[in-house]
Amino acid sequence: MKKLLARSLLSLTALTFVASSGLAAPQGEPRVIDPGPPPADAIVLFDGKDLSQWKSDNGGGPAKWEVKDGAAIVNGTGGISTRQGFADCQLHIEWATPAEVKGEGQGRGNSGVFMQGRYEIQILDSFNNKTYYDGQAGAIYRQHAPLVNASRKPGEWQAYDVIYHAPRFDGTGKLLKPGTVTVLQNGVLIQDNAEIKGPTASDNPRYEAHPLKQPVALQDHGNPVRFRNIWIREL
Ligand code: MG
Repeated sequence: MKKLLARSLLSLTALTFVASSGLAAPQGEPRVIDPGPPPADAIVLFDGKDLSQWKSDNGGGPAKWEVKDGAAIVNGTGGISTRQGFADCQLHIEWATPAEVKGEGQGRGNSGVFMQGRYEIQILDSFNNKTYYDGQAGAIYRQHAPLVNASRKPGEWQAYDVIYHAPRFDGTGKLLKPGTVTVLQNGVLIQDNAEIKGPTASDNPRYEAHPLKQPVALQDHGNPVRFRNIWIREL
């Protein structure tokens, strides 16, 4: 009896921890949703028609990437960011590097998905294209190489499915909990709950406190990478 009580207390504690750590454990029956795609409770960020959900990182006006044949194409006008901010989320995004192979290493089909505008999941043509491992497609840039290289050929559509938990800071800006990210590339696990060390732009990443809801940003690295079917679910 004592043992049983101790055990239930333990599971209660575990449950409380899960609830307070932001993983929304369902209370009662899980909601029924149409799985789509996109799922019924997703916010569609790009459906192939227009970039009205995005703004340009160059001055903050409307996003100026070309929209053609259902895809948004990087065109040298600068990165773009969602108008809406997000914290913990599930993100689906499809991308294709140019069919015509140009350049090498970091110069071939480079773009990126920045979670909260700061933490880059690398996009690169990593099909027969060597570069530093923590800079290839699916890397958390300069922090974590992907577990495997699941890249398709240049010009072919690929998908990232991202499960992201934002870092948390206290009122004084001190880090309470680092961000974590899980990524599937083309359905293959390439980042498994990887711990983000700070903004990925730096070789010595250090967290700087920021508000919880931040835009998702896409990089303009000068290569005409295409995007389609972008949707997000807040967690
Ligand atoms: Mg990049």
